[in-house]
Amino acid sequence: MATPESDELLDKVTNLAKRRGFIFPSAEIYGGFRSTYDYGPLGVNMLRNVKQAWWTAMVQMRDDVVGLDAAILGPPAVWAASGHLETFTDPLVDCKKCRERWREDKIDGVCPNCGSTEFTEARAFNLMFKTQAGPVEGEGATAYLRPETAQGMFTNFANVLSTTRRKPPFGIAQIGKSFRNEITPQNFVFRTREFEQMEMEFFVPPAEADAWYRYWIDTRYAWYRGLGIPEDRLRLHEHAKEDLSHYSRGTTDVEFLYPWGWDELEGIANRGDYDLTQHSNASGVRLEYFDQSTNEHYIPYVIEPAAGATRAMMAFLLAAYDEDVIEGDTRVVLRLDPRLAPYQVAVLPLSKKPELDVLSREVLALLRPSYMCDYDVTQSIGRRYRRQDEVGTPLCVTVDFDSLEDRAVTIRDRDTTAQERVPLDGLLDAVRARLTR
Ligand code: ATP
Repeated sequence: MATPESDELLDKVTNLAKRRGFIFPSAEIYGGFRSTYDYGPLGVNMLRNVKQAWWTAMVQMRDDVVGLDAAILGPPAVWAASGHLETFTDPLVDCKKCRERWREDKIDGVCPNCGSTEFTEARAFNLMFKTQAGPVEGEGATAYLRPETAQGMFTNFANVLSTTRRKPPFGIAQIGKSFRNEITPQNFVFRTREFEQMEMEFFVPPAEADAWYRYWIDTRYAWYRGLGIPEDRLRLHEHAKEDLSHYSRGTTDVEFLYPWGWDELEGIANRGDYDLTQHSNASGVRLEYFDQSTNEHYIPYVIEPAAGATRAMMAFLLAAYDEDVIEGDTRVVLRLDPRLAPYQVAVLPLSKKPELDVLSREVLALLRPSYMCDYDVTQSIGRRYRRQDEVGTPLCVTVDFDSLEDRAVTIRDRDTTAQERVPLDGLLDAVRARLTR
């Protein structure tokens, strides 16, 4: 079995993702397009589940957070005020020997391509994708693809405040695509130029900022643990004061043990009043809160838990990958939390006989309104169990010839491989009980 820190694990998960339809290299029939990926039939289910699990925890279950879905295209004014035009850069160096380009802070002074230690002077490379809005090339207005979702929450602060009658502490959450022209995209979907983020801006009275910062660090750490990332592959890393971004008063990363070592999964930052102050000054619209109890206007501080949906999906896949031996055969099993698995249930008629198809479709009709189900009739039942194990389906429901007589089916558990016979009229409850354990 591949250990958490091994290239072998990364290869196995990357291969599985391609072979079973989780993640394909984009534009593959044209030779691919570096660092872009497409989420296949199983991957799209899983990615949606990751985002849904985040939305459930961050919005649905709380009365102090509301949602938003803001535009990806934005005018330069937003990015000037946020500081991105000036400072959203990485240090770019060219290797003098092989001419490859690298991000200076990621290579420890040695070219990963040829081993040379001679580089050009570092220059600041802005990571934003710039484009033109409007039909005439060269004459349209400059626009940027957002490099983070956060600015949408700041520019809509007053809209949300007035339409929802919230008062600090409250948050605005958003899930969506972001784009960064990364110098060295790498490690599968860990760092790509197009990716999906799950961010929340939590606006608080300044005096409460530190307590909420600690609260969100603990809450976000617990979210990953609750969805199955083991304790020994998750840790918190607080940035030293001198390493903080220009807007940050404190940043803590949730780190995951990837095949190449510990690296960021999510960042939680205390952004102070930086963003609302910047946008107030640049737009002329005062983005502040009037506290009627004290008769005071103030600019709230912001605590931001910023996660990557695609990066989180990769971590969940890496953490779930396992191999064990069943009846003398090695099997690959993704031990995914049922909430994240692409399918919660697979319905498997023992044979292709029409009577079994009819009853199996009855089973599907019972389960599909509540669960994503796969239906598989090809090859032996053993092979079909293995195929479901490999993509993390927690439960298989097998319909056999006895089922036609006794209207009962067999539930088989992915992790234990234990099987149990249950009557059809209790099936939905039995499935629910097993999936929410
Ligand atoms: P890094 O320093 O590694 O480039 P960052 O600290 O700039 O990343 P943030 O701006 O804090 O990253 O972004 C918040 C989250 O968004 C990250 O923790 C990560 O999960 C995700 N993310 C950022 N950049 C990428 C990317 N290029 N590809 C995939 N996910 C990303």
